[in-house]
Amino acid sequence: MKQKAIRTNEKTIAILGGGCAGWSLAAKAEQLSAKSVTLYLKEEIRPSHSWGFWQMPWLSDAVLSKRSKWNSWQIITEEGTVNHNSIKHAYHNLKSDDWFNWCRNQFLQANTKTKIIKLPVTNTEGNHIITSKHKKTFDCIYDSRSPKAEKNILFQHFKGIEIKTTNPVFNPEVATLMDFRVSQKNGIHFMYVLGYDAFTALVESTFFSPSPHSEEIYDEAIKDYLERFYDLYNFEIIHSEIGVIPMGDVKPLDSNPFLHKIGSNAGAVRPSSGYAFSFIQKQIMNFLNNQSKPCSPHTKFDLWMDKIFLEVLRTNPRRAPSLFFRMAKALDGDSFARFLSGEAKIWDYIFVISSMPKWLFLKCTFKVMFKKRKG
Ligand SMILES: Cc1cc2nc3c(=O)[nH]c(=O)nc-3n(C[C@H](O)[C@H](O)[C@H](O)COP(=O)(O)OP(=O)(O)OC[C@H]3O[C@@H](n4cnc5c(N)ncnc54)[C@H](O)[C@@H]3O)c2cc1C
Repeated sequence: MKQKAIRTNEKTIAILGGGCAGWSLAAKAEQLSAKSVTLYLKEEIRPSHSWGFWQMPWLSDAVLSKRSKWNSWQIITEEGTVNHNSIKHAYHNLKSDDWFNWCRNQFLQANTKTKIIKLPVTNTEGNHIITSKHKKTFDCIYDSRSPKAEKNILFQHFKGIEIKTTNPVFNPEVATLMDFRVSQKNGIHFMYVLGYDAFTALVESTFFSPSPHSEEIYDEAIKDYLERFYDLYNFEIIHSEIGVIPMGDVKPLDSNPFLHKIGSNAGAVRPSSGYAFSFIQKQIMNFLNNQSKPCSPHTKFDLWMDKIFLEVLRTNPRRAPSLFFRMAKALDGDSFARFLSGEAKIWDYIFVISSMPKWLFLKCTFKVMFKKRKG
């Protein structure tokens, strides 16, 4: 039977999931050239948290909604400190609630018929969406529901607290992206400190390990760190956030080929760093500009490098601080920002690769190749 061709502006579109990817795409409803766009949300309380990213050309809307930015950042280990500066690619911090509000306004003000339905999608079947209340058909469905993580991978897990102090102890000019001068006994561990002003900061205890810890472990680590390095014993906790991000391969929740996977469901989380916000925006920009299907925002080469790097970290967690130190030292602010935003130039790769211990990486490259052939 001949199918009737659908003119683009007659399409009915659904977006599943109201996280970063779902809302970021909904904000671009007008660019979807559709008759209607329906966003399906799960009724849930999502505590606000913050996203960090380096300024890149595809992030101009996020830059306008930012909370703070830093033109300098540092990586600290027992070996020393690497300081980076960048005017072009400043490090930004954005509150998720601010971003969702901006997206919601864009979505509701779009010249396309838009609708929000607060019902979880329980199943999909061809181009049908099945909720607990009804079954509805769409011409195109973007699926941002969280994927399933593969077995035996590392997770990035963390707890952060935003605190206020009575004395001016934080440096709002320099973001501390990684401070490894903390106990490594529960996995690869570093502190992330964003000073919003001299009295206010986000302090996050972050681990890379096979499974999350109990909250006391992060709390104890933050307390100990603030005492040792900031001489800080009393502070007010304004807000806290926790997260668990898979660092490795994920499988879409629903493999129905009719669904266009987006966001973390389409592998947008950068496996070696857990950064996703910037990559989700890049993925959306790419497929909207090219009027194509969404695809991975990462290059095959980056994913291959990440696989080897993660194998090195998984099998040699003790060497992590030194590896991150070497990598940061090999780059300047601009190239570091590019490298972590998936925009590395050939010489950025050359500097990073030549700074790494060759024998260790060679061994892990063979392991990854062997696993790929077996699997
Ligand atoms: C606390 C925290 C801090 C982070 N910090 C950073 C950072 O600094 N920088 C950075 O780049 N990344 C950061 N990340 C990682 C990253 O940005 C997120 O993982 C990102 O939110 C992924 O977006 P997503 O839309 O793909 O998935 P999610 O945000 O997880 O959204 C998936 C959505 O699907 C919905 N859903 C699931 N099932 C259904 C269903 N059946 N029906 C309808 N809806 C459904 C869920 O309710 C959810 O809203 C952080 C993550 C967390 C949790």
